Amino acid sequence: MAAKPTIGIVAIQGDFSAHGRAFSRAGAGVALVRTPDDLKSVQALALPGGESTTMTLLGYENGLWQAAASRIQEGMPVFATCAGVIMLAAGLEQESEKVRPLGLLDITVSRNAYGSQVESFESAVRVKLGKGEVRVTGVFIRAPVITEVREPTLAAGWLGSQVVMAVKGSIWGLTFHPELSGDLTLQKRFVELIARN
Ligand code: GLN
Repeated sequence: MAAKPTIGIVAIQGDFSAHGRAFSRAGAGVALVRTPDDLKSVQALALPGGESTTMTLLGYENGLWQAAASRIQEGMPVFATCAGVIMLAAGLEQESEKVRPLGLLDITVSRNAYGSQVESFESAVRVKLGKGEVRVTGVFIRAPVITEVREPTLAAGWLGSQVVMAVKGSIWGLTFHPELSGDLTLQKRFVELIARN
């Protein structure tokens, strides 16, 4: 059997511990990533939820975002949730110098579009994986809304008619938090993807 892939959990801010636990349970090795050097020993990345302004502030300072962007452009798979999706987006509805997205997913996002923390909610989400479709529990916490998806990025998950997941090759962006629902369906599929990569 192939060695377990190691997923680097970007751990500069946010709910990275929950991602680490979920990916371990889904069968991956995990390592925390805080510096460009930490990227050398990982085959994929998870970008947690948290606060994209803080992630911007801390992640460019030591060159982590710049180094991560070039690895991702070279084909490294990424599993990004919530603030992580904001960091991957091509554009923001409300431009702000406090948030500098990497432009790796061809999507536009609107931050905090469902309202404040108290308006966080859980709801069933439909996700298209390959030819099949699965239903997972979506936990939405001050989540962004994906307002536009442009090719080659494709919509891959929906809450009603609202796009909540966008995918470009092995770059996955989810506006909800699968690491908090206890359902490991998406993490397991991502681990399979890395094993094939
Ligand atoms: N509202 C946060 C932001 O704009 C994202 C929230 C989250 O990641 N749960 O960065």
